[in-house]
Amino acid sequence: MTKNISILGSTGSIGTQAIDVAKMHGIKVCALSANKRIDILEKQIRQLHPRIACVVDKDAAKALKIAVADTDTEVLSGEESIQEAARIEEADTVLNAIVGVAGLLPTLSAIDAGKNLALANKETLVAGGSIVMSRVKEKGVKLYPVDSEHSAIFQCLQGCPENSVKKIILTASGGSFFGKTKEELKNVTVKQALTHPNWSMGAKITIDSSTMMNKGLEVIEASWLFDVEDKDIDVLINRESIIHSMIQLKDNAVIAQLGTADMRIPIQYALTYPERLPSPAGALDLSQIVGLSFYKPDYETFECLSLCREALRRGGLYPTVANAANEAAVALFLKEKIGFLDIPGIVSESLGSFNGNKTDISLEDILNADKETRKQIALRSW
Ligand code: NAD
Ligand code: MG
Repeated sequence: MTKNISILGSTGSIGTQAIDVAKMHGIKVCALSANKRIDILEKQIRQLHPRIACVVDKDAAKALKIAVADTDTEVLSGEESIQEAARIEEADTVLNAIVGVAGLLPTLSAIDAGKNLALANKETLVAGGSIVMSRVKEKGVKLYPVDSEHSAIFQCLQGCPENSVKKIILTASGGSFFGKTKEELKNVTVKQALTHPNWSMGAKITIDSSTMMNKGLEVIEASWLFDVEDKDIDVLINRESIIHSMIQLKDNAVIAQLGTADMRIPIQYALTYPERLPSPAGALDLSQIVGLSFYKPDYETFECLSLCREALRRGGLYPTVANAANEAAVALFLKEKIGFLDIPGIVSESLGSFNGNKTDISLEDILNADKETRKQIALRSW
């Protein structure tokens, strides 16, 4: 079991819930990191006494240094400092809860330093899955999924013989706009898209859920984690978010993992595997649930899901491009510069115009494809 962790993205939705788990089980936290929310970081420093706290924004780091001058925590600043948190000597496990492809290099630093990874940052695998998985193998470290669906699949797989899985059934809530038509989605607002029916999460993933890009990213994430192809991954909507995912075995038995919609269950499993310890999350009471409803996803209205599947089938750098285009588009949507349906529009155009695909991909290829995709989108006037 993990004894000492470094939390990348400690001020976010996953990061703060990971701290609940660490406190409950006496897991030591030796490093914290954030983009710029130093008010939250200061409180965390005073509670957890990490050796270092790393802040991307240099001005925010300066202010934090002054604010915590009376503590023993050293404040480091800049993008590179996140790598320090990723390879800090004391940690046996690094929890990567950074949002976006910014999490890729820290993931690689943690692996190179021989740390086990609890990975929430799905963009790491979508953009750089080939490199990440080969380095995990090379270094012999463990990669534990935190994303609730992937944790569910990982839990279902415990005790199943190798090669016994026929299909992975990834469940989805359907997001804020389940059942809507394209016409109805044209003018939805940022506020509407940020209202998730079941989960409380960071802004980017909440928008991704509303476009179903999140499920598309998760199909790609599952393909790397469980070594399966697009055709062997089904997506099924479970409106209540009670079934977190399932596997169908070769004999057609189906195993599912159920629970309340509380990320502290998958976070804890990633940190304490293979133990099953008491959780800060509440217990599921199925007698209080009116029913469970299931639907097939609407691939035409929620085009991002189809686009991710297509990117996965094409392989190479296509998933990197889809992810970069989506990150750029979501940022524009959150600033109200584009409409909701421009998000799939931008992802589709970026994939359509990309012509630098390769099979033998280097880290440089990934970083270049990401940068070039964002550059092309930024060049347009929005
Ligand atoms: P969030 O926006 O709440 O938090 C993001 C964290 O990353 C913050 O601490 C922020 O300071 C830090 N950060 C942002 N930009 C950074 C950068 N450039 N460099 C370093 N740190 C940076 O996001 P979240 O909802 O906690 O999601 C984090 C990751 O976990 C995402 O990849 C998301 O898809 C995944 N995830 C989240 C949930 C959830 O319930 N929130 C569930 C499954 C998976
Ligand atoms: Mg998920």
